[in-house]
Amino acid sequence: MTSLDNLVSLCKRRGFIFPGSDIYGGMAGTWDYGPLGVALKRKVKEAWWNYFVESRDDIFGVDAAILMNPTTWVASGHTKTFSDPLVECKECHGRFRADKLRPDFTANVSADDLKDVPCPTCKKIAWSEVRPFNMMFETHVGPVSDSSSVAYLRPETAQGIFTNYKNVVDTLYPDLPFGLAQQGKAFRNEISPRDFIFRDRECEQMEIEYFVRPENWEEEFEKLRKMCHDFLENVIGLPEGMIHEEEVPAEDRAHYSKRTVDVNFDFPIGTDELMGIAYRTDFDLKNIADHSGKNLDYRDKITGETFLPHVIEPSFGVERLLMAILSVAYAEEKDRTVLRLPESLAPYRFCVSPLLKNKPELVEKAKEVHKKLREKYINVTWDDSGNIGKRYKKQDEIGTPYCVVIDFETLENNTVTVRSRDDASQVRTKISDL
Ligand code: ATP
Repeated sequence: MTSLDNLVSLCKRRGFIFPGSDIYGGMAGTWDYGPLGVALKRKVKEAWWNYFVESRDDIFGVDAAILMNPTTWVASGHTKTFSDPLVECKECHGRFRADKLRPDFTANVSADDLKDVPCPTCKKIAWSEVRPFNMMFETHVGPVSDSSSVAYLRPETAQGIFTNYKNVVDTLYPDLPFGLAQQGKAFRNEISPRDFIFRDRECEQMEIEYFVRPENWEEEFEKLRKMCHDFLENVIGLPEGMIHEEEVPAEDRAHYSKRTVDVNFDFPIGTDELMGIAYRTDFDLKNIADHSGKNLDYRDKITGETFLPHVIEPSFGVERLLMAILSVAYAEEKDRTVLRLPESLAPYRFCVSPLLKNKPELVEKAKEVHKKLREKYINVTWDDSGNIGKRYKKQDEIGTPYCVVIDFETLENNTVTVRSRDDASQVRTKISDL
């Protein structure tokens, strides 16, 4: 496994991911995606959408607004309880998330637990009381900035799904169990954003709220748990041995959850949460019904029975998936760095280039091949910079599985060299067989 520094450096050098607002000195916890990062991210999101939504009859998509009526966050409990334990060092005034100061701490850490923990910055032990710090970003909607105009940037995509549950039931009449899925930005004022894209203040989530009959929750939880593993291992290609499940104890679970399984991954920074699956009971629908005054009961089409469905929620973070994918793919070899991305996720599938840039007949032929491949695949790139060795090096670093090179022999017999990223082998192939 590579170091985080190597990943950060490759991502910046090759145009995957840059620090947010870099030109003005940065903005902690934000990251900007360059051309290759966007391509990779879109493919990961598309793979998720295809697997969980497009290829199933029981999960449907929604795309809710980021700004929501502030009652949303009262009903969901976020205004009261969406907080992390904050502690301040009285010596250097550094602020830290108390439960992250030692790996064995839980969310309920107190000042007593910190008695022998030195400040990571100044190494002194002089902690303030631990207090809850609400992580929602506040903003004002409309031209007047007073308490009546306060709104929040959503801290999770889930509530945009729950608040549309009734709209979907009333228009689509789906049978239970069914799921609603959403991908989109979420904002959390993390006390200490860190570890590259692992902990951001602006991140992207992919969440499913799966509505089930209350008595079936355990069975449905298992099905979704298996689906998540299948997606991570067989669609995204993460090694099974690097994925570990953790049953989250009651005191560490979110306020709404009766069971949570964290799916952890062996990241370069250590083993930590990649995604989670939570049984949210009827907590959300019940609270939305109470706060909106609307009846959210589901009516069984055959028996006529009415009840509030319970919910299982698989929740993925796009950035953590990207970090897992990149860290598994990254390899340093004797004379090259190579990104062994799965072919389906690589920003480019083929790179086409003429052996020599200054031979118009090679360039023209290469352009023809490039066009031909383009007609079949969208993600074909062109590279005629530097010499062929440098081009291979660059394409290896950005994870392009195949380089197609047009040389003088191509002009004679319409064959090209196909050079493979993974073992650097080269084969001669007819253009028509590409
Ligand atoms: P953590 O314990 O690491 O703070 P969490 O348990 O609060 O995460 P959830 O609220 O369950 O996270 O969010 C679901 C998923 O969203 C996480 O598994 C993670 O992949 C992603 N996620 C949450 N917060 C962040 C963040 N600040 N930066 C990047 N991804 C995040």
